[in-house]
Amino acid sequence: MNTTMNTIPFLDLVTPHEELKEELCGVFRAALRGASFIGGPMVEEFEREFAQYCDSQYCVGVANGTDALRFALIASGIKPGDIVITVPNTFIATAEAISQAGAQPDFVDVEERTYNMDPERLQDYLENDCYFDTATGKTFHRKTRRPVTAIVPVHLYGQMAAMDDILELAKDYNLMVVEDACQAHGAEYFSAKENRWKKAGSMGKAAAFSFYPGKNLGACGEAGAVTTSDHDVAQKIRMLRDHGQAQKYYHDMEGYNGRLDAIQAGFLRIKLRHLAAWNEARRESARRYGQLLAAADAAIGLPYEPTWAKPVYHLYVIRLQNRELVQKRLAEAGIGTGIHYPIPLHQQKAYRGLYYKEGDFPVVETVAKEILSLPMYPGLLHTQQFEIAEKVLNLVSVIPAHEQGQRAAAAFAD
Ligand SMILES: *Cc1c(COP(=O)(O)O)cnc(C)c1O
Repeated sequence: MNTTMNTIPFLDLVTPHEELKEELCGVFRAALRGASFIGGPMVEEFEREFAQYCDSQYCVGVANGTDALRFALIASGIKPGDIVITVPNTFIATAEAISQAGAQPDFVDVEERTYNMDPERLQDYLENDCYFDTATGKTFHRKTRRPVTAIVPVHLYGQMAAMDDILELAKDYNLMVVEDACQAHGAEYFSAKENRWKKAGSMGKAAAFSFYPGKNLGACGEAGAVTTSDHDVAQKIRMLRDHGQAQKYYHDMEGYNGRLDAIQAGFLRIKLRHLAAWNEARRESARRYGQLLAAADAAIGLPYEPTWAKPVYHLYVIRLQNRELVQKRLAEAGIGTGIHYPIPLHQQKAYRGLYYKEGDFPVVETVAKEILSLPMYPGLLHTQQFEIAEKVLNLVSVIPAHEQGQRAAAAFAD
């Protein structure tokens, strides 16, 4: 192995913070001066600015993205015993939040080209596994008789799910829609129904965002937020994040300790000013990857952008037959990659109790074995992308397709 080569990280979290160091340290110094660590004007300012950025009426800052999802579900009216529909191709937090709100996650498969919730599978599920009870105006699961009350579409990799179709079905079956926008800060969707572009976080009853450091908008620690245009939902989340109190020591209900730090809110305000430019840089890098990899069109599945999508490329995910080999060789060349996600949720040990089996969601099971996330971040250089693409092209073109599986197996053995 050549030890003098340059390495290309999967993600660069150092450079952007170096560039903003003085401003970020200013936030910290101001917080120390005022001993203002929890709540206060810094949090309120950020909430105002992020709500505006998402074309949403309200934003409530919380401790992380998982809290954001859980609070959004509870505040929207999810009750213990409900069934909430989501996809198996997501980070486990989506399903955890559903379970922790007392509901049971149920999955529908994803679309092969976008990796997002497939509205046709959603329709199948609602038509075949559920029934709409006209007397109560509610949807129930045929087998378990549990009420089915919400859908959580995940805007995976920074591209929004097919929201018009999902919202239409939700309306027909009287279901709430809570967006998991944890990877989609600033993503847009062209709603044919409304004939305009809509922002992630503005389409459901509520939406959850994570500001985990590696997200498109990341804190310097843990943070999250819910956006909503429903006043009551916003108010309820403000209470849920703060032990169920609107006034200190007067608890209307039990809540959680799920508040957003003032220091993190201050960091986020500074970084939010750069988010549009950072997202544009990601889109530019995605275009360049597309051009560089187009030569191997048949062997590499490139990200698919429907005309109605304006993704923000939290991740740049390609599809390959010989994924294991390519990932291994790239690692040897000092190029970082990731797999999002290697095991679909229905096949995780944690969800054995849901009694899913192999073959239940064939699309996600197939793509999980073939997807590879290439380096993607705003400071990614042309020269680095060129180097990555050259290596990927060599690795897919030297090996005939029928041998790729065997080679991949052999690569594991050595
Ligand atoms: C990051 C992420 C979450 C959870 O966010 P945390 O801030 O880590 O709790 C939830 N859903 C998706 C799709 C994510 O990518």
